[in-house]
Amino acid sequence: MVLKIRKHGDPVLRMQALPVKKINEEIQALAKNMLDTMYAADGIGLAANQVGIPVRIVVIDVGEGPITLFNPRIVNHGEDKAVLREGCLSVPGLTGEVERWKKITVEGMTQNGVGCEKLEAEGLLARALQHEIDHLDGVLFLDKAKNIEEEEEDEE
Ligand code: ZN
Repeated sequence: MVLKIRKHGDPVLRMQALPVKKINEEIQALAKNMLDTMYAADGIGLAANQVGIPVRIVVIDVGEGPITLFNPRIVNHGEDKAVLREGCLSVPGLTGEVERWKKITVEGMTQNGVGCEKLEAEGLLARALQHEIDHLDGVLFLDKAKNIEEEEEDEE
């Protein structure tokens, strides 16, 4: 099911998301709907805040298959940062250059909820994870971006 994506200005995007306590059916369904919503919007990542529910869930697919993480947190990072232009489904029409870690290690629970998954990520996946985890803390890329530009409207 495709959910409504909240846009910049909606207070839920500024909320500190609460931890997922138990990965029950309701939470699993929400995560699945988030993936549906992300794919429908041609995005590569989505945080639960963006569909109006401030709990710590992110979904990501940078072209390597879907990843769902509950309570993700960055536990380690490399020494190098990179600057890249990024956008956000909640901030349509704007992009900006954001500096982020090139390599990170993220811990979180995966779909089945068994144990704690440790994920080493670099490149686009590392960037998407940092962007989405920021959402869970009420942070938008606009807060960190330089050279914010308006994008041409897609004519579809
Ligand atoms: Zn975003």
